[in-house]
Amino acid sequence: MKYIDEFRDGELARALAQRIADEADPGRDYRLMEFCGGHTHAIFRYGVQDLMPANLRFVHGPGCPVCVLPMARIDQAIAMALEHEVTLCTYGDLMRVPASERKSLLKAKADGADIRMIYSTQDALAAARSAPERQVVLFAIGFETTTPPTAVAIKAARAEGLENFSVFCNHVLTPAALGTILASAGGGQDPGQGADRGAGAQGEAGVQLDGILGPSHVSTVIGSRPYEFVPSTFGKPVVIAGFEPLDVMQSALMLIRQINEGRREVENQYRRAVTRDGNRKAQALMAEVFAPRETFEWRGLGFLPNSALRIADAYADLDAEQRFPVTPRTSREIKGCECPSVLRGVMEPTDCKLFGTVCTPENPMGACMVSSEGACAAYWSYGRFR
Ligand code: SF4
Repeated sequence: MKYIDEFRDGELARALAQRIADEADPGRDYRLMEFCGGHTHAIFRYGVQDLMPANLRFVHGPGCPVCVLPMARIDQAIAMALEHEVTLCTYGDLMRVPASERKSLLKAKADGADIRMIYSTQDALAAARSAPERQVVLFAIGFETTTPPTAVAIKAARAEGLENFSVFCNHVLTPAALGTILASAGGGQDPGQGADRGAGAQGEAGVQLDGILGPSHVSTVIGSRPYEFVPSTFGKPVVIAGFEPLDVMQSALMLIRQINEGRREVENQYRRAVTRDGNRKAQALMAEVFAPRETFEWRGLGFLPNSALRIADAYADLDAEQRFPVTPRTSREIKGCECPSVLRGVMEPTDCKLFGTVCTPENPMGACMVSSEGACAAYWSYGRFR
């Protein structure tokens, strides 16, 4: 299949691995963070780490939308469904993420809440159209990739005069999280200075990072320009990387070359989909329908300023947080779950005492084991128990 098979070619992979081994300086380490969970899965699924020299390690980042959603927001969604008796529509991955008091959306559904799994925002709109007597809330999550479809749904609801549809908005912004991780890694000035890093992060040293593999899907929307603060503020190179194994390997080689040559730039390996300016139409749509939140909680990173979106005032009547207010909740983690440290790249999943014993995909203790993009799920699925 065009654009797939050619990026999974074994011979090319072996040649690239040899090139990486030839060019990597044996006198130093290369710790490269892949921000996105899609890259984490490509690395494990195709054994990319095994093809790398011993002094190159991939560090897993927080780029899994389900994993970074704090428990408090799931608690809030459950409260909305139960207290206001709304129909709550959300994506499958989120259903089993543990919430407070041993609950989850799935368990709340078993307790009688009307919570439905959807595949797209259009399913939520369809649910609202088919039951005008029910209030339908779209529990919207995700990075900049999934934000435009939520904006489309909000605009469609407004255009149709769909009065029983609203959105519980939890969309988050990639650059803010990247800046926080780099600041905790000890480089440059934090663009999110003043952030409350949350209990899990307090007093904990960040991980050493030498370069960043930038997200691919997110970057199709925002472009490569928003990462330019990474070299200028933190002195680290970035390569926007595609999701296939050869994309990841070529991006690692590009990072090695930047590091070896002392260059610190944003380079774009994923040129077949990403430009410097991104998708301006999608950006305009997001700017019309959403506004930045002053602060938002991320699992593992704490409260970060300007790191998430709320529904803009012009569409406030479609904001479920205003239509169905519930008491704000406080997040906490399941005892022993190391998701916050895993999400910051400080720990590997196998460092968690619960990994593979108490916590498995069948019985997840934390979001990183639930989501198909979570690092713990990747380690488990591909048997990487070093
Ligand atoms: Fe949390 Fe389970 Fe991962 Fe441990 S293995 S960090 S309990 S999700």
